[in-house]
Amino acid sequence: MSEAGPLVLVVEDEPQMRRFLRASLASHGYRLLEAGGAAEALRLASAHPPDLVLLDLGLPDADGIDTTRRLREWTRVPILVISARQREDDKVMALDAGADDYLTKPFGVNELLARMRVALRHAGRALDGTAAEPVFESGELRIDLARREVTRGGAVVHLTPIEYKLLVLLAQNAGKVLTHQQILREVWGPGSTRQTHYVRVYMAELRKKVEADPARPRHIVTEQGVGYRFREG
Ligand code: CA
Repeated sequence: MSEAGPLVLVVEDEPQMRRFLRASLASHGYRLLEAGGAAEALRLASAHPPDLVLLDLGLPDADGIDTTRRLREWTRVPILVISARQREDDKVMALDAGADDYLTKPFGVNELLARMRVALRHAGRALDGTAAEPVFESGELRIDLARREVTRGGAVVHLTPIEYKLLVLLAQNAGKVLTHQQILREVWGPGSTRQTHYVRVYMAELRKKVEADPARPRHIVTEQGVGYRFREG
């Protein structure tokens, strides 16, 4: 790639991780800005608005979750959290604070690049207003948004209005993890964010209807303790 690639702001204090990211991303055409802490990250992000932020949670001067909130006060830039923290609470907090996705260290370069492509694709769609494509297709599954019709392998799938909303929400965020809170807010409204069991119950029903094998779902994947992700293909 000789043209200027997407500009990525890497916020990471570990030199070894910085070297790994620098080498991996530069060789795939990305341009890099690097910050070793939260204050520097916020300064760089406003001076040179990046196309994507890779954000470590454990920073020397502030928490990455707070940094996510600070960024979200003024920018919709995709934020991909990279962290050594395994705890589900941290993932949920980062995502609810406005991060787009979460990778737990150690991770492979291919996984990182794939998640970055998904985040950039979503941001691009949001920007050029093409988010609402009339038909969504993935594997055997087809959602005709204009007609509100879902088919699997050509056969019509009968969904309740809530199941339909859930499926469309997941599909329109394909590749991206959605937390229980985000799903509740989008589907049931802002007053119902404590009813996480709704999500599990409806998701189970939805899987029975749209998955060939609901016990081993191909599309509606559980992110344990965090939420759900729609897997394409
Ligand atoms: Ca760190």
